[in-house]
Amino acid sequence: MTDDKPSSEASSGAQHDVLILGAGVAGLSTGYELAKAGYQVTVIERLPFVGGLATSFQEGPYTYDLGPHRFYTKNPALIAHMEEILSDDLFYPIRKSRIFMRNRFFDYPLRIGNILTSLPPWTLAKAFADYLYEQVKGKFSPPEDRNFEEYIRSRFGKTLYEMFFGMYTAKAWGIPPTEISADWASQRISLLNLWDTIVQTIKQQFFKGKNEPRTYASQFFYPKHGGFGRISETYRTYIESKGGQVLCDAELKSIEYDDTHIQRAIVEHGGKTLTFEPERIVNTIPVTTLPRFFQPAIPVDISQAISRLWYKAIVFSYLVIKRPQLTDDHWIYLPEPKLVSHRISEMKNFSSNCAPEGETIICMEITTNFESDIWKMDADEAAKITTQDLIKIGLIDSPDEVKQAFIQKRKHAYPMYDLIYKENLEQLLTYLDRFDNLITTGRQGLFKYNNSDHSIEMGLAVAAEIIGADREGRGIAHDHRTVATEKEYFG
Ligand SMILES: Cc1cc2nc3c(=O)[nH]c(=O)nc-3n(C[C@H](O)[C@H](O)[C@H](O)COP(=O)(O)OP(=O)(O)OC[C@H]3O[C@@H](n4cnc5c(N)ncnc54)[C@H](O)[C@@H]3O)c2cc1C
Repeated sequence: MTDDKPSSEASSGAQHDVLILGAGVAGLSTGYELAKAGYQVTVIERLPFVGGLATSFQEGPYTYDLGPHRFYTKNPALIAHMEEILSDDLFYPIRKSRIFMRNRFFDYPLRIGNILTSLPPWTLAKAFADYLYEQVKGKFSPPEDRNFEEYIRSRFGKTLYEMFFGMYTAKAWGIPPTEISADWASQRISLLNLWDTIVQTIKQQFFKGKNEPRTYASQFFYPKHGGFGRISETYRTYIESKGGQVLCDAELKSIEYDDTHIQRAIVEHGGKTLTFEPERIVNTIPVTTLPRFFQPAIPVDISQAISRLWYKAIVFSYLVIKRPQLTDDHWIYLPEPKLVSHRISEMKNFSSNCAPEGETIICMEITTNFESDIWKMDADEAAKITTQDLIKIGLIDSPDEVKQAFIQKRKHAYPMYDLIYKENLEQLLTYLDRFDNLITTGRQGLFKYNNSDHSIEMGLAVAAEIIGADREGRGIAHDHRTVATEKEYFG
């Protein structure tokens, strides 16, 4: 890279150079592995900090994550990777989460005793009858799974669907579950486990424990210090220690291409215009944003496909409460529409270093649309609403208990799996695949409902693809696209 000069001159020699767009865990884990293998890595980040959706913030004595984040994987290679990067700074909390509805807390995963005391027997009986009905019906006509509602109803029955699933989904996404793809259900396995638990619990009521619930991941990885964002900070430090660059506050201006090759990327950083001519570009910024930088402009049909892909935004309202602890939960789901927030999390339960003694910091999440009234709220306006939610739930008594409020917002929080996303995404990815030196990956780069472990696994896979392709003189394999395609538990 040079100021106003092609990078190939500056980085010529044995080293391969790679430009990575986006410093979330997908981009940084790719950069970490490539830097380890001797590549010359530059990461470009639009925001002033690294971490993307897996960032932590420090405000005075308070540390808070961008929503509750736990790292969980069954993949031994990823566990070893996490131990390699965080070593002594890792600890393994036991997860606790609940659901608040009908003015009660339900353990999540549900426990038989808890559900028995919380749900009326006739509701249990009705839920079980509906469930049986769907099972029998499915034997004669297999479910078509045309949308989220069909997918869930056919597997769990009408009562369970309406009681928990339909309500939470409609609230979180703001559109009817019939307009949401069944893919969301199949990738949102954590909630399916909830239903699995309910169903198994009900079965146990009637058949005395013939089917045990699946095993639930109760323990997860979390950094001892610095919040979840520590993972990204560690990647950054390593990349820089190997001579790589992580440029925050960097503004991508254009990406020039011809035929099947990306020629250069123009970036503004620190008042300078930087020109990169990397051998490879790894994209982890929203796949809907990337082509907007392309020069010449992309074909009209690709622009149209992009305009049909959209993300759900999220507002995070943080409340510092003048109490040592509100709950011992990591998070609590709030499916009912009478509460504006859809989830609460208590940072102190992730790490006791997050707030001083005698105080606790709560994160209230509200999913919304970009530029909606909720989106436009400032910290105090959001705090007023979320404080009322806490009072309604009975976790605090009055607004006087709130000492301070912070706010964070993200436009690209959740890729929206509506009924037409898949065909438009495929069209866009097929178009991008023509470029022999471009790889798009991660949650944003593949418009995929990744958890952080999936984005990191993709990062490691992308690095391996690049290293393998360079060694063997072949094209990129795109194996990273197989990550998280199986229906496996991650909740
Ligand atoms: C509320 C919430 C809770 C979550 N909880 C969990 C959890 O408990 N466990 C878990 O494992 N995962 C969780 N996740 C998912 C996890 O955060 C993501 O899967 C992961 O962080 C995605 O990483 P990524 O690098 O793929 O994308 P991102 O983190 O989105 O990174 C993309 C980066 O690109 C940057 N960028 C965008 N545009 C540009 C541009 N024009 N130029 C340069 N840079 C740009 C962005 O600023 C960002 O830094 C949660 C997500 C959310 C929203």
